Amino acid sequence: MSGNRDTPAMRQYDAFKQRYPDCVLFFRMGDFYEMFDQDALTVSRALGLTLTERSPGIKMAGVPYHSVETYLHRMIAQGFRVAVCDQVQDPREAKGIVERAVTRVVTPGTLVDDAMLDDGASNNLAAVCFLDAGDTPEGRVGGAVVELSTGAFSLFDCPAGALVDELARRSVSEVLFAEPTGREESPTTPPRVERVLRALGVPGAPRPSWHFRAAEALEAIYEHYEVATLAGFGLTEHDPAIPAAGAVLRYLRETQSIDESHKPTSAGFSSGASIALQLRPRSLTHIAPPKRDNPSDYLQIDAASLRSLEIERTIRAAAPASSSASGGRTTTDGSLIGVFASPGRACRTSMGKRLLREWLCRPLADRSAIEARHACVATLVDAPPMREALVEALSGVQDVSRIIARVGLWRATPRDLVALGRSLARVDVIAATLESAHAFQHCHAELLAVREALAPVAAEIARVCVDDAPAHLREGGLVRPGVDPALDEARHLQHESGQWLAEYQKTLVERYELPSLKVGYNKVFGYFIELPAAQARRAPDQFTRKQTLKNAERYITPELKEYEEKVLSAGERALAREVEIFASLCAAAAAQAQATARFAGVVATLDVLACFAQIAAHKRWVRPTLSEEPILDIRQGRHPVLDDLLGSDFVPNDVTLGDPAAESPARLALITGPNMAGKSTFIRQVALLTILAHAGSFIPAESALIGMTDRVFTRIGADDALHAGQSTFMVEMVETSSILHHATDRSLVILDEIGRGTSTLDGLALAWAIAERLSGAEESRAPARVRTATPRTLFATHYHEMTDLADRLPDRVMNLQVAVREWGDQIIFLHRILPGRASRSYGIHVAKLAGLPPDVVRRAGALLESLSVSHGATRSPTASPAASGNAQLSLFTEYLQHPAMVELKEMNLDHLTPLQAFDTLRSIQQTLKTADDR
Ligand code: ADP
Ligand code: MG
Repeated sequence: MSGNRDTPAMRQYDAFKQRYPDCVLFFRMGDFYEMFDQDALTVSRALGLTLTERSPGIKMAGVPYHSVETYLHRMIAQGFRVAVCDQVQDPREAKGIVERAVTRVVTPGTLVDDAMLDDGASNNLAAVCFLDAGDTPEGRVGGAVVELSTGAFSLFDCPAGALVDELARRSVSEVLFAEPTGREESPTTPPRVERVLRALGVPGAPRPSWHFRAAEALEAIYEHYEVATLAGFGLTEHDPAIPAAGAVLRYLRETQSIDESHKPTSAGFSSGASIALQLRPRSLTHIAPPKRDNPSDYLQIDAASLRSLEIERTIRAAAPASSSASGGRTTTDGSLIGVFASPGRACRTSMGKRLLREWLCRPLADRSAIEARHACVATLVDAPPMREALVEALSGVQDVSRIIARVGLWRATPRDLVALGRSLARVDVIAATLESAHAFQHCHAELLAVREALAPVAAEIARVCVDDAPAHLREGGLVRPGVDPALDEARHLQHESGQWLAEYQKTLVERYELPSLKVGYNKVFGYFIELPAAQARRAPDQFTRKQTLKNAERYITPELKEYEEKVLSAGERALAREVEIFASLCAAAAAQAQATARFAGVVATLDVLACFAQIAAHKRWVRPTLSEEPILDIRQGRHPVLDDLLGSDFVPNDVTLGDPAAESPARLALITGPNMAGKSTFIRQVALLTILAHAGSFIPAESALIGMTDRVFTRIGADDALHAGQSTFMVEMVETSSILHHATDRSLVILDEIGRGTSTLDGLALAWAIAERLSGAEESRAPARVRTATPRTLFATHYHEMTDLADRLPDRVMNLQVAVREWGDQIIFLHRILPGRASRSYGIHVAKLAGLPPDVVRRAGALLESLSVSHGATRSPTASPAASGNAQLSLFTEYLQHPAMVELKEMNLDHLTPLQAFDTLRSIQQTLKTADDR
């Protein structure tokens, strides 16, 4: 027997399940949400729930309804989609099976509830549409990205090869794609989609392919915005992003509306105020008109650089993308964003926090737009009272962009509404702080423009709602007394009941001479008259016995029953009135969704500018000067994060690239110096300062002249992407190749220890050729003599042989070194960048610092000396790379034959425990010693 499936409830369940095959269905039964069959297995595994059986063969698991949000959160964080099926009828009123409806579909990319979102990070839904049939990196892709929780909506298109970068920088947590046609039976994810999803670590959702057809997509857009052309949005009907835009809108409509096929007929307020609200038609009017993202408007930072420059989070803290994408909190300590999060100087609003992240991850490329931001920051730096007034004015503004979204979707709480009203009311205070500041003219005008639409909403909310709103509407208490006569009357009845009962009790006591008679109330039995058991026989005939307790009897009278009904229905009436009033306030606010979004935009902008100014004033950062020339001239620059950490111990440094008036006009600098000297810190610092300047911030330096930059490329450290099936060296070369292909004369390239992932000879040769190409030297030109780009480049390397390049290409390459002082056989790191080359690599000194046994260090010193002697001067100023390569070759063949080296070579580092590593080290040492003794 396969269990009893043929019950009304299971039939209803099966019908819903069929409509939501790709969702886990949470099916409300009494006080639980139940999951059945495969869903039960899935959730029991995902949430660690006990698996039971509803009847033999029907697996079941459940979660209590009052904590469903927590479970939903955990399901979404694991990439599941959940359809929530509620009871939409009072079970007491149901004839037969209680009516149910799917009231929401919760997916990682469509979250709106505060509890599921990180207030400092945006959470976006994307749709992508591959426009070419072939699977090549050059094929075009159209994309649409929407944030349901704020209404932001943007379109882009890019080559398939850049899709991961485009989506990664937009914090996407769910990707819609067209299901391959002809196999609706078992939809599979196309390989090119699969690769993107895997790289991003986010779930994908296949959608019917017709959603992505141009005509149908346009129809969805026209319908949503009630327009007949896209001209008003500055878009054409042939825009490559249209298919994705249409598909994303259809998806929102589908997930955010109540399932039409099961529209309940009798949902009343008795089913609970929140359900009643949920069943109202939802409005997506807060979704802004689509805006096209023009890549050339932004300084582009690819996903690998965002990660390795630790802009949003540190590499250590970087959680796997899948868990951080959907609501996971991110650690900002040690990241660039973290610098702006210091208490007292951080952004005041959640909207500001999110915009700050966006500004840092997508700085501007347009000089005048950046300079406008700098001018605002300068104004605030120079006028502390204005700065303080602005910060103060912003402090009271809640997350209105997310609140207005919830308002339209009927997921706002009474507290949300009151917070919205209070926030909108601040428009005047904020505008007043900007009054006479020229740099803020635009913001000021924008505030005045939305004021007219928002002030009435704010005033109405303030007039109607109490200051201290209840968390939810279940018990009422949102509307002030004196606002609504019907509500007041119903409430009066409720409040009067205490007095009425006291009087009724008094009357009965006197009439029947029963001094111990009491009138009371409890939730289960309602109102009752209570007599001690001893007096029960004196109860008059009108008393109907209701309940017998140990020492007392409880009764009811027709009079009391009537009163009870009046009071209880008054409670219901009052609540219904409040829901009505709340709903009409929400509707009025939702009607101003677009004005509210504009207000939110200005607040966020002001908040970030104020934060920039606070940091700049407090840390004495300077305003960078921008230039159209590909130049970089930073005096006494500091690493923003390390500067915070080390304070006055941090050593500031200069850098000058591409300045024809400087000692070297070279755009490429090679930085050499021992390990731990500060090479990586220095080159990252230059990238971070360039990014900060383009984001509109001041920067930690004495002065800075920064040429406009189109892209920042970095290849730093051994960032291993083994999970993507590529070796570290492969990743290194893939990234370097992308740099060589895409860097322009306006780019900034940061290379750290390129070539480390392979043998020394290979590595040196590759590093040499790459540096040569980036410097624009003749030898490396492509055969067709196309002009290759010469980006500003900082190249840190431990191959000090490479410093010869500067002798061969003095106008194109310069040498910088990190100064160290030798003190006997010790070295002291000065962290100071100076012109010139490191004379040696000091590897042995560093090994000693690291605690390598002294005899090993001594032996290595001796070996080094003998090797250097046997090769004479390993480097002559004009030696060609090939020549120094040959020297290297023989040098290394000697090394490689040594038994210790053989042992080293054969070690499998991936499978060694620290203890085994130590033992191996000891054995290598032993080998060396034995060799010594021989
Ligand atoms: P390298 O890349 O040359 O091996 P790093 O850039 O990783 O060296 O720097 C090593 C350490 O030196 C850093 O962790 C930092 O603590 C310190 N350091 C680097 N640059 C500076 C500086 N300018 N001032 C003070 N300390 C620094
Ligand atoms: Mg380094």
